[in-house]
Order: sequence, then C-alpha cells, then structure tokens
Amino acid sequence: MARVRLEHVTKRYDDQGDVVTAVDDMNLDIAHGEFICFVGPSGCGKSTTMETIAGLTIPTEGEIYIGDREVTNLPPKDRGIAMVFQNIALFPHMDVYDNISFGLRLRDYPQDEIDRRVERAADIVQLEGMLERMPEEMSGGQRQRVAIARAIVREPDVFLMDEPLANLDAKLKVHMRTELQRLHKELDTTIIYVTHDQEEAMTLSDRIAVLDSGSLQQIDPPLTCYNEPDNLFVAGFIGSPSMNFVEGTVTEDALETPNFSLAFDPSSIEGVSVGDSVTLGIRPEDIYPADLREEVADPSGIIQARTDILEPMGDEIFAYLLLGDGETSMSQELATNDQLLMSIDPDSDIEEEDEVGVVIDRRNVHLFDSASGEAIVHDLRPVGTDSTTSGSEVETDD
Ligand code: ADP
Repeated sequence: MARVRLEHVTKRYDDQGDVVTAVDDMNLDIAHGEFICFVGPSGCGKSTTMETIAGLTIPTEGEIYIGDREVTNLPPKDRGIAMVFQNIALFPHMDVYDNISFGLRLRDYPQDEIDRRVERAADIVQLEGMLERMPEEMSGGQRQRVAIARAIVREPDVFLMDEPLANLDAKLKVHMRTELQRLHKELDTTIIYVTHDQEEAMTLSDRIAVLDSGSLQQIDPPLTCYNEPDNLFVAGFIGSPSMNFVEGTVTEDALETPNFSLAFDPSSIEGVSVGDSVTLGIRPEDIYPADLREEVADPSGIIQARTDILEPMGDEIFAYLLLGDGETSMSQELATNDQLLMSIDPDSDIEEEDEVGVVIDRRNVHLFDSASGEAIVHDLRPVGTDSTTSGSEVETDD
C-alpha cells in the first residue's frame, strides 16, 4: 500500500547568501490510490515538494514516508516511485519497445518478464502495434504515452508527474487528460501530479493541494476548494475567471460595502462582530440580472450597475459591471470595490453601457476576515431560510 506522508517538510536553499524557503513546514497525508494535484502560482514550491518525494532533493527538515518506510534520505531508485516529466526525453535511436523497456533491461529483468510488462503498458496507453516505431515517427501525444508506459513498466507504488502535458497542444491535452484518468482507474496506484493548469487539476484530482509561498493553503476535493475555499488565496486562485472581492464592514444588521449592502444578522455567524472588516467573495456565476431574480433561490436585493465590457465566450458572456459612479474600466484594473464580473447567459440581450439591476445568490456568498484572509462563512442567507425557501428579499441602498 503506497500511502505517502510528508511530516513537517521544509526545504531551504541558499541563493547567493539569501535563504529561500521553497517548502515551508509541509504536512501531507496522501492515501493509497489517491490522485493528488499540486497547484499554485509559479515559484510556490510545487516542484520542490515533488522532488523531495522523488528523492531528487533532500529536505532541510522533516520526514517523508512512502508506504511503511521512511524514505527521507533514500535515493530515487529505492523509493518505489516512477516519474514522468514535462520534457519527454526518449532515446531517439531506440524504437518504442526499447525505450519502454530500457530501465528493465538495465536491471537485468528476464526477457519474458520484460515482454509481459511492455505489452501490458503498451496496452494501457494504447500503443499496441507501434512498438517498432522510432520516436521521430510519432506525434507529441504518442511520445508522451511512451514516457508514461516507461514509468508503468516499473510497476511503481507511486507515480510522480511534473506537468506531463504542458508541452502538448490544447486538443491533445484534453485527450491525454482522459487517458490519465483511465490509467489511474486501471492501475490503482497513487499519483502525485504537479500542474499550473487549474482545469487539469479540477478534472483529474481526488484532492487538490493548493500551495502558496511554500505553504499548503488547502487540500480538499476540487469542488470543496471551489465552493468552500479556506482563505482568500484559495478563493482567488481556484476558478477562472476569478472570484469577485469587495471590501465591507459588519453593522448591527447588514454587511455594508461602498456600493451596496446585504442584510444579515451578525450574531447568527460565529466569528463575526459588529465593526469587523470583512471581504465579500462572489463568483461571477452567482450574480444574476435582476429580471431573473425569481429563478435564484435566495437572491439579494437589487444592486444597480452599468455594464462596461462584454466578453462573449460562446456558452456564456462575461459582463464587466461598474457599480456606483465607478469610472475605471474593469478590463484595465480588476478587483476594486466598484467592479463586479458577472457571467450571463449567451442569449441575454444585455449590451455594453446598459443600466442594469443585478442580484447576488446569497447561498454562495463567501465572507473572509480581511486581516487574516481566513474564510468565515460560505453562505449569507438571512437566518431561518434554507435552500427550500426562495425570494428572501432584502433591502439595499441602491
Ligand atoms: P514551482 O514548481 O511551484 O514553480 P519551485 O518548487 O520550482 O516552484 O520553486 C520554489 C522556490 O524555490 C522558488 O522561489 C525557486 O526560485 C526556489 N528554488 C527552487 N530550486 C532552487 C535551487 N536549486 N536553488 C535556489 N532556489 C531554488
């Protein structure tokens, strides 16, 4: 059983006299058979964390366990892992069979065992009939499959994949994504996968580990990270386009923002007191034109806005809204209190420069402590309502 655990793993580098903390006190417990994606902005420590698990980097502090063994100081070959990287380094002068079996031949496996493993791996990644091809005769996707097959024949306890699809074109990426899901199902192995591609992480993972500045921010199933982000960083990072953030203050009976207010009873929510500075988070798809108010289970009162730029995406339109007398074009400067991004139906007849009323679905309003960034609540319905009630109207100062 290949459970993977990191206990207080820290990796510091000395960068010409400056200490860089690439991984900061990371604790992870990955179950056997889980597919985990590491996501986060460039430089957040994804690859370094992966390298410590692989044995390519020894942590400055902390321990790493694979299965029942502590492997912190073991070389990569003794860890029961196989790696697949972004840059597929196939041997150009070897055919597919030789590329896949290279590691096994090096370790003097018996020929019939090598044949059995290569055949099975080629079958899993659908390369049957191509074993005699040379790398130059293959597409990027096929070459990446050879690299994956080469990892499969090792029959590792854990697969480590660092942006394995990054160099493929968009269409092939989607195809390979599906193949990886199939592969995971078939192999029943733990997969740890580094990507900066959110869509990849959302579709592939059992759980996503969101990293920032070397620290783990949240590790949860994709939809939990999306619907219940633990803090402002995760809320802003997961989801494209990003969540809208508006600064507000808690009063006796409402959340006041510069351009609208949402009535609620602060005493009903733990961790909120009158006078607190909070950040309101609203996803673009949780804002609706007011004429659809009846369709929203728990709409806020109507907020007056003006549309700025519209971006038709095919299946939805992104409408940039200006609140109050906001002059700034949202396309130039994002995320101020006077702007909201709303996702609307492609059939909508809303045009640029329209005066519109919008409502917010209060079931999906997120509140964060502005100072600490920690989430307080992910639902701002008035007390006494639940998902079965509708039309809970509140006053706004529009
Ligand atoms: P990511 O994979 O998320 O882009 P990395 O793990 O590659 O991030 O890097 C994390 C941080 O550690 C970055 O600030 C990077 O510059 C630094 N770093 C990584 N490797 C080294 C190294 N060998 N020497 C010095 N600093 C490094």
